[in-house]
Amino acid sequence: MSTLPKIAWIGLGIMGSPMAENLLKAGYPVTGFTLEQDKLERLAAAGGTAAGSIAEAVKDADVIITMVPASPQVEAISYGENGILENARSGALIVDMSSITPQTSIDLAANAAEKGIRVIDAPVSGGEAGAIEAVLSIMVGGEQADFDDALPILEALGKTIVLCGPHGSGQTVKAANQLIVAVNIQACAEAVVFLEKSGVNLSAALDVLGGGLAGSTVLARKKDNFLNRDFKPGFRIDLHHKDMGIVTDAARNVGAALPVGAVVAQLVASLRAQGDGGLDHSALLRAVERLSGAQV
Ligand code: NAD
Repeated sequence: MSTLPKIAWIGLGIMGSPMAENLLKAGYPVTGFTLEQDKLERLAAAGGTAAGSIAEAVKDADVIITMVPASPQVEAISYGENGILENARSGALIVDMSSITPQTSIDLAANAAEKGIRVIDAPVSGGEAGAIEAVLSIMVGGEQADFDDALPILEALGKTIVLCGPHGSGQTVKAANQLIVAVNIQACAEAVVFLEKSGVNLSAALDVLGGGLAGSTVLARKKDNFLNRDFKPGFRIDLHHKDMGIVTDAARNVGAALPVGAVVAQLVASLRAQGDGGLDHSALLRAVERLSGAQV
């Protein structure tokens, strides 16, 4: 029998499935619940236990990890008689790894504390590849003691793991992350269209750009998406639209101006309105191509 903490995992999507599998590989017992049957079967095939409900997944858990799309889903799985707070044991630790508004994290921590349940917010960066390779950056908000308890588990999921401050701080840092990533993708997309219209060998150009100051993790990870026009997600435009809303709103609240971020937020919204919300965020290239006269 494993003496490691028992893990409940809620939300086995593009990120959650490979992350839960990395915990199984590290020896943790994982019981999961998610909305898609095939994802539950995938967890069971990897050695985990598929639960029939949130209540069943969390009732014996020491640590409950959640990885769902946005604030409404975090609230749906946390509150109400079928939610985590009603069904987890006192003393359990919730590690919410979804990217949501900082205020949702602050409220969840306060509501959970009334039940003796601890919470940290621990959103991630690194994409699907980072999840599979267990090299995510994990930005944490909450109490030091809870961070210390979660750290061995987080070390099976990521490489750079930092406590950024009190509840909600992880989400604030994640919002800044999404601002930087979106602006970076937009700059890369503009460079790709410029290079192609100029008749330069794009593959050679991106190789040499990647070795200089223009190089970035975004360019390295998204280069093949640009070259092959492969926009299978990855990270969906729908989710980046949500994140641009979070960062724009949070920045307004503290009086920070984000002029370039605001423009890129509009480009992401426009791409989504044109029906590309299900594509990877590297599909910002399509928006630039359309602006430059292409029929894509
Ligand atoms: P996804 O849509 O692939 O997966 C979300 C999962 O949540 C689904 O499996 C769904 O069944 C589950 N879910 C939703 N509502 C539920 C409910 N009520 N009960 C149980 N399960 C429920 O999304 P994803 O790409 O894995 O992203 C998850 C989070 O991670 C988002 O907040 C996203 O912004 C963030 N994120 C994603 C990436 C990425 O590259 N995909 C990278 C970093 C962060």
